[in-house]
Amino acid sequence: MAVGQSGNSPTAYTKNRESDYMRLKLLLPVVVPTKFESPKKCPRQGCPGMRFIPRQEVSKRIVDAQHPEVTAWRYECVQCGCTFRVYPQGVSEKQISKRVNGMAVMLYVLGLSYGAVEIVLSSLGMSIGKTSVYRAVQSAAKKVPGMRREKLLDGYKTKAVGADVTSVSCNGQWIQIGIVVDATNGIVLSIDQLPGEDAEQLKAWLEPILNAVDADGFKIVSDETGRSQQVCKSHVGRNTDALVDELSAIIQAAGQDHSLEAIGVTSEQALADLARLRTLIHSRRPEDQPQLEQMYLRYANARKPGKGKKHDVAYRLRNLLMDRWNLWPRLTFYRTWKDDHGNLILDGTNNHCERSIGWWIKERYRSMRGYKREQSALNVSRLIAFAGNHLYRGLKLADLIA
Ligand SMILES: [Zn+2]
Repeated sequence: MAVGQSGNSPTAYTKNRESDYMRLKLLLPVVVPTKFESPKKCPRQGCPGMRFIPRQEVSKRIVDAQHPEVTAWRYECVQCGCTFRVYPQGVSEKQISKRVNGMAVMLYVLGLSYGAVEIVLSSLGMSIGKTSVYRAVQSAAKKVPGMRREKLLDGYKTKAVGADVTSVSCNGQWIQIGIVVDATNGIVLSIDQLPGEDAEQLKAWLEPILNAVDADGFKIVSDETGRSQQVCKSHVGRNTDALVDELSAIIQAAGQDHSLEAIGVTSEQALADLARLRTLIHSRRPEDQPQLEQMYLRYANARKPGKGKKHDVAYRLRNLLMDRWNLWPRLTFYRTWKDDHGNLILDGTNNHCERSIGWWIKERYRSMRGYKREQSALNVSRLIAFAGNHLYRGLKLADLIA
């Protein structure tokens, strides 16, 4: 976690992307009592006035770590004669400075409860109530741009997205939250509440996103129950391992199954093919597709057992090899995407997504007390994910603080 102030030059970003801890870089708003922006528009509704005369300097007490008091300017609109105040940078008509509100948001994002933020800030001389902390966090969260499905549907393009589903506790109930990540860079694209977690509901949520972002051919979805909705690379790997083990065991046990003999393949050959398949599925090189084809052809003549009969070893081997041979381009094509330095863009797993869920939604080290309102759970997840999207330059909290 890096903390900075607006205006500081961004520190070099040298942390390893794979580091498995939550990192945020938040830039606090500053208070500059001498810096005023001259008014550009009359605050009175409907008044077109654009010229204003400074009338009076007035003092204002504020809650801030460094400036207990600042001065504001009273201006008069030449057009309609109304008067209004202009405040220095970091101060608004409210009593609490933007810096203190920013600190409240920062401490909350770091895992403190609303009440704990109140205690910490008050003990440092910044008296801010728990309710104000709550308001600051929620209003900052509401200002987070995008991060919802509807926004994603107009315009964002990427070659690959990862999607995942998680649940957070809210008022004693578990609500389902879906997260979509750009799988090429780990940027969180949207966080949405889902009506439920059955396959149909997931599909209804995700299909429009996949179509809109144009991520054809590489759609990864997994969820906490381990159901693989589409082609998740790590799932295919585990699944293949399990089948290889099972079929190898049947062949080694010998006995009733004579299906291999029937197509003229020895047990040794079949065991060697299975071992080879296991190696190939883990190295996943595009150029190995002909090998899979060759292996498949050995079993191509295996007959489908009659109705009601169990699939025998030869037929299962035929299906497994055919499936992986056909799937090969989809399982390996991400290997052909390289960045400017020749590094692979994707590692073929849903890691970005799993990491995002851990970092931004589960907020790993926040005490698991759940959220009071569903909207608050969504808002805060979006706020934290948005901060995570700004690791390089830092997130200017001033942009989110009213
Ligand atoms: Zn006016």
